[in-house]
Amino acid sequence: MFFSVGDIVQMKKGHPCGGNTWEVLRTGMDFRIKCTTCGHLVMLPRPKFEKSVKKIIEKVISLDETEN
Ligand SMILES: [Zn+2]
Repeated sequence: MFFSVGDIVQMKKGHPCGGNTWEVLRTGMDFRIKCTTCGHLVMLPRPKFEKSVKKIIEKVISLDETEN
């Protein structure tokens, strides 16, 4: 599965705040994600992130080619 910054993902385990959707803020060796409900930030290694993701809710389309 491929992830981009800005994707909204659903995790297998919800956040204690009651939300279970997260925005991807950083990809790479480590992923940084933000709880879209309370804004809590979490950093976790890629393998753990990939195991924890249930599905992608919203996929961003890369604008690399068109951005100025
Ligand atoms: Zn939360």
